Formats: sequence, structure tokens, C-alpha cells
Amino acid sequence: MSEQEVFMRAPAPTPKRTVYTDAMQIFHRAADLIGLAPRVRLELEEPDYEHIFYITAKLKDRLVPLSADQARAFGDLPATKLRNPEGLEPLADGKFILNGRALLGSDVSIRGGHLRLSDGNIYKLVPGESRRFKAYRVQHNQARGPYKGGIRYHHEVSLDLFKALAAEMTWKTAIVEVPFGGAKGGIQIDPRQYGREEIEAITLRFMYKLKRLIGPDVDIPAPDVGTNSEIMGLLFRQYSDGENERHTLRGVVTGKDVRIGGSEGRAKATGRGVAFCIEDYYAEKGSSVRGKSFIVQGFGNVGSSVAEILNAMGARLLAVNDAEGTVYNSDGIDVPALISYVQDPKNLKRSVFGFPGAQRIEKKDWWEVPADILIPAALGGEITADVAERVKVKLIAEGANGPTTPEADKVIARRGIDLIPDIIANAGGVTVSYYEWIQNKRMESWSEAEVNRKLEFGMKRNWRIIRDIARNSARQTEMHDSRRFCISREVDTRCAAMILALKRIEAHYQLEGFSQ
Ligand code: NAD
Repeated sequence: MSEQEVFMRAPAPTPKRTVYTDAMQIFHRAADLIGLAPRVRLELEEPDYEHIFYITAKLKDRLVPLSADQARAFGDLPATKLRNPEGLEPLADGKFILNGRALLGSDVSIRGGHLRLSDGNIYKLVPGESRRFKAYRVQHNQARGPYKGGIRYHHEVSLDLFKALAAEMTWKTAIVEVPFGGAKGGIQIDPRQYGREEIEAITLRFMYKLKRLIGPDVDIPAPDVGTNSEIMGLLFRQYSDGENERHTLRGVVTGKDVRIGGSEGRAKATGRGVAFCIEDYYAEKGSSVRGKSFIVQGFGNVGSSVAEILNAMGARLLAVNDAEGTVYNSDGIDVPALISYVQDPKNLKRSVFGFPGAQRIEKKDWWEVPADILIPAALGGEITADVAERVKVKLIAEGANGPTTPEADKVIARRGIDLIPDIIANAGGVTVSYYEWIQNKRMESWSEAEVNRKLEFGMKRNWRIIRDIARNSARQTEMHDSRRFCISREVDTRCAAMILALKRIEAHYQLEGFSQ
């Protein structure tokens, strides 16, 4: 056999399985089912642009605590009395940042670069160094409008993950009918290990590099894991600094504080959108959220707001798991008290861990808490096939992006657990980001009641179309019309949501054509 024959007979290599290939499985399934036009498929299979860049920042001096063993050598070191204790910024990992001139004018006793603080502990003074961080922006597709998607600050990010999250944004913006495409990006960093002024410097430098890639009509970032309205304010400042007609640029980021052009209702919009889907799910069954029990994973922006809103609708929160721990109360957790506990500035890890109104349990037991609803609102890939076998819930509403693995999806289907998939469930955030963007363009400011009313209509109308596609029940009502989207057979809700997205995106390519 010639070398060429051997080459030709060799089986095609199996593509490496990644977060992105996992996330795209549902795309391929839906694309096959609707016979997506081959060229549209190629357009959507990979992102338009994948940007990787590096940013540097000068860190501040730090005080790093010594272990009891190491501290013994400094037993007789007197405590340093700081003239300005405000200059010491505590971090979640037990270190302190020395802001400003914290030590200036203080009675400082330093030995070999070590000092004792008033808490009695010995700390090593580590001079601030310069550090490099890896940053990303993936722009997946813009057939329907400017790229749109969040900024994540987290230590476990990668190009592959951002590709998956950017594609999710393309599907999501199509599903809730907002005129955007999909993007995602962020920095590989654990923000809890850095002080406020360091995060500010890193954020400004990030935008310094990002600026030529984005714009109010090009690509519009928003908050995601590890970022918030404060970070959005910094991004806006850096983007618009020194620009003529600066006020016209407010729409370059959404999720801003309402006092600087943010929208009323944006902060809780993602959680509210999840709650609207759950409310409609029960309403259709002639039931209601009142009296239902639920468990939540993640108690940040999405987890805490969905808990607050469902609680106000009469549902009971039984247990919460976050990055630091898990709490459980069979009588129901006092949600406002838990939110105050997590948001207390003294709670440096912003965690439910140690909440006095509940008992501590292990994460493995948390998955098995019997409840009506499970709401993952943390990171991706948490609901594995094994977890899906163990959960004791009737409905999963995905607040997080990509929380369920493809294997788990099969288990969920087999066990008859209902699913509100992420690309509709958590699309409330981008919906209100769109309202914020319109308000910025028009120099308007809408009331929270108006925002919530529009959001409710947008979420429920599209969730109903998805359920119709799933059941193959094409119909037109006052609120929605699913006739264009049903495909003459039943599918699961995740596939139905993807079908809705693909049909809406495909229409743009079909009706507008391709530019050459
Ligand atoms: P956040 O940073 O405000 O909160 C994240 C929460 O997840 C924290 O409570 C953290 O403790 C918890 N967490 C992190 N790692 C964990 C782990 N390994 N196990 C358990 N809990 C863990 O982030 P957020 O904005 O609330 O985003 C949460 C999810 O919702 C993400 O998947 C995000 O992509 C998605 N999402 C957010 C928005 C938004 O508007 N913020 C919109 C759509 C989707």
C-alpha cells in the first residue's frame, strides 16, 4: 500500500471535546432538524473574531499573614499603630492592601520586613509588583445587530469558554428579539485577590486595549460573573474620556448605575426574567409559584435576585450553594436577611457561608434537597449526568449560562424533569440591556414599572413560542405567534429554543443576503 493510500484510508480524527464543542452540540442538532442553510451554518459554527490580548498593571504593597509557626520568631514585635487604618484594605484571602500612605506618620515597628497589626497577627510586607493578565473578547455573530455580551472577571476562563458564551449570546438575543448579535469576554483574574484601586487600574487598562474593538453600534459589553455596575462605569469613563460628544457614547456599555445612564430594573433583570419564565410555566398548568419550594446555586447578581423575586411571589427558598459553602433551612430561608448577610461589606467573600438563619450542609447533599425547582445561577458544567441522576426536583430553570452538560440533558429528559433552558431563562439581562441602550440613544429614562412590564411581555411571549415548538403546537394568540417556527415534530425545550434562535437568524441571511 502506498503512503498516499494509507493516508486516505486513515479514519478521520475525532474532534477534541471542549466546552465549545459541548455547547455547540445542541446547535448542530437543531440545525439538522430544520435543515439550516449550509452557508448560514458555516457562518454560525465559528465566531467572527477571537481577540486575545494582554494587559499589565502595577499592584500595590500588600501585608501577607504569616502562619502561627512562622510568626513565633516575631513573638516580641510590638504592634504597629496605624494613623490611618482606612488605608488598610482587607482582602478575602486574609491579606491587606496598603492604599495611599497608610503607614505614613504611624508608629511602625518593622523587623526584617514584618510587622504586627492590632489584630495581633504578624504580616510580611510584600512590595507591589507589576503583573500581566490575559484578556479576551470573542465576537461571535452580528447578523442581527451589534455584538453584545458580558465581561467576566474570573480565574477559570479560556478562549474556548468565551467562544461558547459568545455563541450563547447570539442565540439569546435572537430568542428575545433584541437587535443584537453575540459576544463575550473578560480577564483571567480572581478579583477577590485584588484591592479596589487595583481592580480600577486593571479595568481601565482593559478598556484602553479593548477600545478599538468595540463601540455603541459595534459591540456592547455588560456585567457578568465578577463584574458589576461599578466596573461598567469605569469602562464607560475610559472609553469616552476626552471624546467630543461624550454623552452620545453612553450606550457603549450596559448594566451601568441608573445615575449615569443605566436603566431602572437592569440590576435584577436576569433574575426577574428567570422568575417570569417560572411563573408562566406554572400559570399554564393552572397552578402558581405560591407555595412552591426552590433551591439556588450561586447567590450573586442572578441567584440573589431570582430568590428575592420568587420569594416575593410566595415561593420558599430551602437551600443555597455558592463558591464558599452551602446553607439549608427546611422551614425556608429568610431571603432578605440572607441578601443583607451576603452584601454586608464585612462579608469579604460575599458568601452565604456562616449565615446564622440556616444550617450548614455539604454540597453533595445540597443537590439532593427535595424541592419543586432547582435554579443553577453560578458557573457552567455544574449539572453533570451524575448530579442529574441525584436531584429531587420537578423543574430546572437555568439562570447560569451552560450549567448542564449534554449527558445530563439526556438524564433530565429520561427522568421527566422539566427544563427552562438558559438561552431563554436568563435572557432578561440582555433584554433590559437593550432597553438601557435605547434609553441612552434617545436620552430617555423609563420607570421601573415600564421596564418590568416590557420585560414580562418579552420573556413570556418567547417562552410560549418555545413551548409550542417543543410540543409542535403551532398557533397564534394575542401575545404570540409560533406558526413560523414549529417543525412538524416534538422536541425537547432546549432544542426548541435553539430552533427559534436559528430560524430568526437564518431569516436575516436569507432576506438580506450575504455581503461578498
Ligand atoms: P456573580 O459574580 O454576581 O455571582 C456568581 C455566584 O456564583 C457567586 O455567588 C459565587 O459564589 C457562585 N459560584 C462561583 N463559583 C461557584 C462554584 N464552583 N460552585 C457554586 N457556586 C459558585 O455572577 P452573576 O452575574 O450572578 O452570574 C451568574 C451566572 O449567570 C453566570 O453563569 C452568568 O454567565 C449568568 N448570567 C448572568 C447575567 C447577568 O446579568 N449578570 C445574565 C445572564 C446570565
